[in-house]
Amino acid sequence: MSYYVQTRWGSSEDNPSEARMREIIQELDTPDQEHPDTWLSDDFGWTLTVSEKGVVVWENMEEETDPRYQENVSRDESLRLWLLLANGNYNEIEQEPWKYGQGPPVSNDELQNRKIQAEQIVRGIQREFYDSLGPELIGSKCGREGCVRGTIKFSVFCRPHHFENVRNEICPFND
Ligand SMILES: [Zn+2]
Repeated sequence: MSYYVQTRWGSSEDNPSEARMREIIQELDTPDQEHPDTWLSDDFGWTLTVSEKGVVVWENMEEETDPRYQENVSRDESLRLWLLLANGNYNEIEQEPWKYGQGPPVSNDELQNRKIQAEQIVRGIQREFYDSLGPELIGSKCGREGCVRGTIKFSVFCRPHHFENVRNEICPFND
């Protein structure tokens, strides 16, 4: 029976020892949202993924099986599960109290946080574009009817109106 572990920071290790597995799981104690998990897979595609939040997912990466999960799994318990898989003890793993899914449902707070983060990313991209437009030229006048601002270089519009013209969305800036 051979297996490998993909560590959370990206290296793949064949047949790590129990001591090494323990170290790899302990790496999860350092928060890193972009690399939240590590997994152990065997030759048949059976995989146990452990995340820093204590969610363990049991699935087969090669066959079409529905993933199942447990939450609030301790690091010791995660190690025990990995050792079962490393030794091919599928039956014992199957007896665990798995629930169907890739993990627990996301809370409203978490959804709200993700939405805010996504909006901040979009706003950052918009700002970068807006800043790249450069200053409005003195003595010029924006081509949009009723607008009293000057034009930027190589455009008939001011910064906000050029932004809206190019990106086809409301400009959130007016500086
Ligand atoms: Zn304008």
